[in-house]
Amino acid sequence: MNPPTEDGHYGRWGGSYVPEVLHDTFKRLKEDFAAAKADPDFWREYVELMSTYSCRPTPLTFAENLTRHFGGAKIYIKREDLNHTGAHKANNVIGQGLLVKRMGKTRVIAETGAGQHGVATATMAAKFGFECTVYMGEVDVLRQRPNVFWMEKLGAKVVPVTDGSRILKDAINEAFRDWVTNMDNTHYVLGTACGPAPFPEMVSWFQSIIGIEARKQILHYHHTLPARVYACVGGGSNAMGIFQGFLDDDNVELVGVEAGGHGLSTGKHASRLCSDDASPGMAQGYKTMFLQNSDGQMLETHSVSAGLDYVGVSPILANLNDQKRVRFESATDVEVIEALNLTMKKEGIIPALESSHAFVQAFKEAPGLPKDSAIIINQSGRGDKDIFTIAHALKDPSWKEFIINEAREYQQGESK
Ligand SMILES: *Cc1c(COP(=O)(O)O)cnc(C)c1O
Repeated sequence: MNPPTEDGHYGRWGGSYVPEVLHDTFKRLKEDFAAAKADPDFWREYVELMSTYSCRPTPLTFAENLTRHFGGAKIYIKREDLNHTGAHKANNVIGQGLLVKRMGKTRVIAETGAGQHGVATATMAAKFGFECTVYMGEVDVLRQRPNVFWMEKLGAKVVPVTDGSRILKDAINEAFRDWVTNMDNTHYVLGTACGPAPFPEMVSWFQSIIGIEARKQILHYHHTLPARVYACVGGGSNAMGIFQGFLDDDNVELVGVEAGGHGLSTGKHASRLCSDDASPGMAQGYKTMFLQNSDGQMLETHSVSAGLDYVGVSPILANLNDQKRVRFESATDVEVIEALNLTMKKEGIIPALESSHAFVQAFKEAPGLPKDSAIIINQSGRGDKDIFTIAHALKDPSWKEFIINEAREYQQGESK
């Protein structure tokens, strides 16, 4: 992959636009990361830890029944759902944890919208013995109770942010405020391949473990490279992770799938690279395509999957889009539920709603590809941990009844 410029740009995107007081912190982070990246022992330690604490290498599963169903390319699924905590997020947080240890810091902070990155960070902090504070918009704290529950049980302090619209962007501001005050002992664990340099490069580097494994595995099982590789795109970290295994192979087409929500024409989506609602901007410390209005006010995004619901996108992917190296598509909420249902029934595999976006596009294209070709879908996470969201999205009537009964029993228990 082409490295960024000295000041962290990828083409016209990226950079590092941070408050003056954080300049030294970022300079040191850049140096410490560069040293770790150049040290083969650091990567070895990372791979070793991921193989004992998480589940690496994750398998590449041949989806025999789906392949037969669509009658085209052989469908393979890279199983990031089998990571510890159920998604590719473990790769990034464990990697940054090792870096924090190397830097001699003792406290980590994070911001989280859906709570998945918060849980992963709290897990990592428990494992390494770091103090951990997670900032979360007050609205998200109410919406994501199960994740807040686990963060607290894992020993993290969850701080509800009451500024602004009380969602992710307000939590990001609050996390930066904390970092400014505590930069001596604290590292900010950013959750995706976005934000100011060196975060896009750092997060992508830790996630590249997915693509390194997937390339070896497909050559082992299929003996040639895949025709196409599909990944869903929120901030872009799981996509960058698997794409890096194939970026230099011109014959492998890379496809990123964004959240189409209710449809691109409705304005209710989170598609930055294939809708007309996004434009170049600078926010949260970096330049990329943002979903914003003409005054630079961020728009409200919508997706059935909380993890893809983000206004910006990795500057590295924005650049690969300019270079036409990655093709971007979008999948609607309705298509996502359909693909999820089919995958559960045909393969006994439950992809996360986020991951199901990649399945949608792969299913559209597989029938048109030759039978002797292969495609890989990156299953970024598992869906069973999202039972509240998925049962709701599937409009399961007995689930609704169960929730109402549970609530009733709680109330009766309290009045006794
Ligand atoms: C967080 C999350 C995503 C979106 O993040 P990226 O940085 O785009 O990978 C996708 N899938 C799952 C399962 C997630 O938890």
